[in-house]
Amino acid sequence: MQDDTSGREVLRFAPSPNGWLHLGHAYSALFAFETAKRLGGRLLLRIEDIDVGRCREEYVEGIYEDLAWLGIEWEEPARRQSEHFAEYEAVLKRLRDMELVYPCFATRKEIQDAILASGIPLQAWPSDPDGAPLYPGIYKDMPRERLNELMWEGRSYAWRLDIEKAKAKAESINGGPITFYEEGTSTRGDTGILEIKPELFGDVVIARKDVPTSYHLAVTADDAFQGVTLITRGQDLFPATYIHRILQILLGYPEPRYHHHGLIRDETGRRLSKSAKDMGLRELRAQGRTPADIRRMVGL
Ligand code: GLU
Repeated sequence: MQDDTSGREVLRFAPSPNGWLHLGHAYSALFAFETAKRLGGRLLLRIEDIDVGRCREEYVEGIYEDLAWLGIEWEEPARRQSEHFAEYEAVLKRLRDMELVYPCFATRKEIQDAILASGIPLQAWPSDPDGAPLYPGIYKDMPRERLNELMWEGRSYAWRLDIEKAKAKAESINGGPITFYEEGTSTRGDTGILEIKPELFGDVVIARKDVPTSYHLAVTADDAFQGVTLITRGQDLFPATYIHRILQILLGYPEPRYHHHGLIRDETGRRLSKSAKDMGLRELRAQGRTPADIRRMVGL
């Protein structure tokens, strides 16, 4: 783990190169840049390209180009997650050794069928904060030998974190309830010292058979490896902090502070997505908008 002995704050902007940057990213990147400047801190750039199927090199180049155009300065070199799979695998192994993860072979269809078999209508089944139905635990209590057999058969699987067990273990290490410090707000306006609610996610996927990590694992490991002290990101990722705090405690990582900022919305009040072409930075640039215009448009 890198330690910043200078005592300076370390912030990061961590985009996923699976599309072109839009106004929402510009706000998030400028927010991190300005906050780092105000605090006399460092700004890191991390390319979150673990989804090798959806990430493209031209989007990575686009990120460098758009950020430089906006006048944002970051420390070189940017960390690329796809170059660190062996490190994530080692982290996953630690969680496996603690017996807090299990392989799950369920397809989406199998999960749906299990929910239907419970007699609860699909619409009434709880969803996690990302909108996916809570995992009904199909492979959770399967004997280890059977799970091993399925792995040997070459079936595809995902590693899931046993959230109840993981939370209990983290609480015992922590000596009490797990909290985090929120300098911004959740969408509901929560701020200050907040308690985690990881059960909202159920047993989250923490890695896959062919990719030894997931967003949650890679982001938590990297923030620790890079010595990030203040995590700034959009409110959409506020609940993910519940999972990240558990992982930090289990893995012995330091506790960063968090600032979840508001999201840029379109005229209809919808959150911008990668397909929001009219809000794309390249389009806006082609229309003759300047970096100063962009700052005004995002209210900075
Ligand atoms: N890579 C994530 C995204 O593009 C952000 C990760 C984070 O800031 O924690 O949405």
